[in-house]
Amino acid sequence: MKFQRCVRCIMDNKSDKTIRFDRRGYCNYCTDVLKRMPTVYFPNSTGKRKLEKLINQIKHDCKEDKYDCLIGISGGVDSSYILYLGYQYGLRMLAVHIDDGLDNPIAIQNIKNLIDKTGVPLITVKPDHTEYADLLKTLFKASVPNLAFVQDNLIVKSMDEYGRKNHIKYLLDGNNIAHESILERSNGVDFCDKKHIVALQNKFGEVIIRNIEFISLIDRYINWNFISKLKHLRPLNYLSYDLENCIKELENFCDYQYYGGKHYESILTRFLQCYYLPVKFGIDKRKSHFSSLIVSGQMTREEALRKLKEPLYISDELLQKDKKVIADFMNISVEQLEKYISLSPKRQTDYPHSVLNKIAPLARKFRRILE
Ligand SMILES: [Zn+2]
Repeated sequence: MKFQRCVRCIMDNKSDKTIRFDRRGYCNYCTDVLKRMPTVYFPNSTGKRKLEKLINQIKHDCKEDKYDCLIGISGGVDSSYILYLGYQYGLRMLAVHIDDGLDNPIAIQNIKNLIDKTGVPLITVKPDHTEYADLLKTLFKASVPNLAFVQDNLIVKSMDEYGRKNHIKYLLDGNNIAHESILERSNGVDFCDKKHIVALQNKFGEVIIRNIEFISLIDRYINWNFISKLKHLRPLNYLSYDLENCIKELENFCDYQYYGGKHYESILTRFLQCYYLPVKFGIDKRKSHFSSLIVSGQMTREEALRKLKEPLYISDELLQKDKKVIADFMNISVEQLEKYISLSPKRQTDYPHSVLNKIAPLARKFRRILE
């Protein structure tokens, strides 16, 4: 196949075989987002009005409750900015952090600074180390692309659990159009697919999972949306969510430190995005991230192409350090980790998964229409 790159964003057909281009050379990703953007992203006075209305609605609906909303915090910019924003608007928040043992120390310090400054109560969830490490090892052994599968499932599971336990009506979600409107299509297994995790663990696991609980696709798309009534809100779509400005605001507010790139707040996701995915699967996530910034007007295409040429890891020393941390975490040698990495690549769909994965994109589309 002849190499082709979108002339508006930087998505290409090398890492994504499903991409389509029109006669002008624009891809389906940026074309779809630009069509959708005016209906969901309001970086203007309309957004400010919508945000204020939303906050008033939350306060009104929750005046009898202990909390106005739930927030999942990773120490990354999106969730940190949500917490900061909620504090500015006087919301009574409950924050939940998943400490899987692979947090970037900068992110841990960021969370501490934010919590100290805002006084927001924080629940830190620590999954059973032996089980979690074995689940991670399972993903390496299965040779699948999404090493963050279990991590992502636990985040959603914990939000669901603490939302229910505390009778919280609203979840402020850091997902946003400005920074992540373009996401490369994965190969179709949603991280809420409990059946998939269980099947992988049955095949490759060395430990029986007794303490870690997963969320299933049924819980995610049916119970959560229609029974538990925990409403997901994305307030970052109601302001001009400019990455540099937001980092500066957070720096001034609580000595926040930026950690160098999207999802680098976790050592696992940094390793996944900067080494494992590009080296093993030829996937460079920066393409979708920079493309999102291009369509929201926060980066030029030239700048994105220039940044794409920069090395993924800022230094080989950091890469070696991360490999050692991850190997130690799973109680294996770096040599053994390298052996897992060199296994022939598999797709998530090569392993058993729920038929509901076919329905999930439709459910997302339906939710978008409702939004
Ligand atoms: Zn494009």
